[in-house]
Amino acid sequence: MENIKNYIDGILTTPYNNNYFNNFDPSTGGVFTMIPDSGEEDVDLAVRSAEKAFPIWAATTVEERSELMMKVASMIRQRLEKFAHAESMDNGKPLWLARSVDIPRAIKNFEFFANAITQFSSESHITDSIAVNYTLRQPVGVVGAISPWNLPLYLFTWKVAPALAAGNCVIAKPSEVTPLTAYLLSEIFIDAGFPQGVFNVIHGHGHRAGKAIVSHPGIKAITFTGGTKTGKDIAAIAAPMFKKLSLELGGKNPTIIFADCNYEEMLETTVRSSFTNQGEICLCGSRILVEKSIYEKFRNDFVQKVKQLRVGDPLLEDSMIGAIVSKQHFDKIMYHISLAMNEGGNILCGGKAVNVPGRCSDGWFIAPTVIENLPSSCRTNQEEIFGPVVTLIPFETEDEAIEIANGTEYGLASILWTENLTRAHNMAALLRSGIVWINCWMLRDLRTPFGGVKNSGVGREGGLEALRFFTEPKNVCVKIK
Ligand code: NAD
Repeated sequence: MENIKNYIDGILTTPYNNNYFNNFDPSTGGVFTMIPDSGEEDVDLAVRSAEKAFPIWAATTVEERSELMMKVASMIRQRLEKFAHAESMDNGKPLWLARSVDIPRAIKNFEFFANAITQFSSESHITDSIAVNYTLRQPVGVVGAISPWNLPLYLFTWKVAPALAAGNCVIAKPSEVTPLTAYLLSEIFIDAGFPQGVFNVIHGHGHRAGKAIVSHPGIKAITFTGGTKTGKDIAAIAAPMFKKLSLELGGKNPTIIFADCNYEEMLETTVRSSFTNQGEICLCGSRILVEKSIYEKFRNDFVQKVKQLRVGDPLLEDSMIGAIVSKQHFDKIMYHISLAMNEGGNILCGGKAVNVPGRCSDGWFIAPTVIENLPSSCRTNQEEIFGPVVTLIPFETEDEAIEIANGTEYGLASILWTENLTRAHNMAALLRSGIVWINCWMLRDLRTPFGGVKNSGVGREGGLEALRFFTEPKNVCVKIK
């Protein structure tokens, strides 16, 4: 496969220093393409092009922008199979998952924001019949978008689409671990006839290309999804430059199961909410809190179902669990499994690497792992693992469940299973997370605010929240008397 290229000023281009690094297929452990090792020079070139394009793009009508974005959506749909293969090969996720979730959602992101911008409005305030105030919502300018590897195109477009719809020019950097679909997207922007400089893609390492985006004075806002530590580093640079910041960070989400839940639906969904995408979804529940009266039954039923999840070649339809995204991440997860054992954890299933014979014999696979017998305060129950590893924790009362659920530095999502309506509403209000799923998981409505509290982030994405982030409100006061 040819080397990946940056997309700057409307053309696909090599990095300024002409340096590249390896891109691995996690299912085989082999290198299949090379990634530009971009730096400050590339970012600066992109910013200059974006600054030139900005007044023209900001002056286009909402209909023009909306139509172009719809065109991008429809062109991704035409190439869905190519995108799905690329995503699976880059990330290790099952092909069926990329085909049914990742790429369709990327298409939806463009369609959703192409429509949402046509419905976007701003406030006006009448002041005692003396004056009319109205709020102009103007695009911020050139904005930076930095995304992670777990849902590569899905999260990349979740940032890029609202930014463009609101009239901004974008410098975007996908994860260096999974750059391929962002590269394919830049080809689509050329074919769709997007004006040059409006959308730019810089590939490379976080500490070089990413940092150059965050530090560039011409970039006025940063939208970032990734780890909490990286979010902290980004905030340290961007905050003193007074950039707008949206940070979507790590999590340690609780799944709270009460005895009165719809048991079969809960069981089936909890297997999914624990292990979909190898557990590498920020919304996955990694700590499963179970009411004591059904703990044993749940443990036995759950472990039986988890053991049936087939770990295998991502290209095969019956592989439920694919490869772990990188050797580095594989090592991190394996370290956490051994840490759990050292902390006294009892491994109920999994706990080891899986050898997938044939094509994937050198790939990085881990069996879905369920661990019990650990206090909620231990490192395994406090630190984000971000892999196919969950712990089981029994509880007796609602208060105890809330205390355990809220007892980490994170606050992204909580999942609650109960048929008791009063309890559900009371607990939803008490859970310290940005998102609460009640009797469901990953049931997404793109209009809803999306994001976390505590160390899981600052700001919200989704719907009007995203369009507000990517615009500056300006109050205009007109005296009328
Ligand atoms: P990461 O923080 O290592 O990298 C994310 C992105 O930031 C990459 O593009 C990377 O190149 C870039 N980056 C790294 N260092 C940088 C720096 N100093 N300056 C600028 N950019 C830099 O995260 P990851 O390992 O790719 O993704 C996994 C993490 O993402 C997990 O913690 C997961 O919880 C989180 N995540 C959160 C959400 C959410 O919505 N809250 C969604 C998905 C993933």
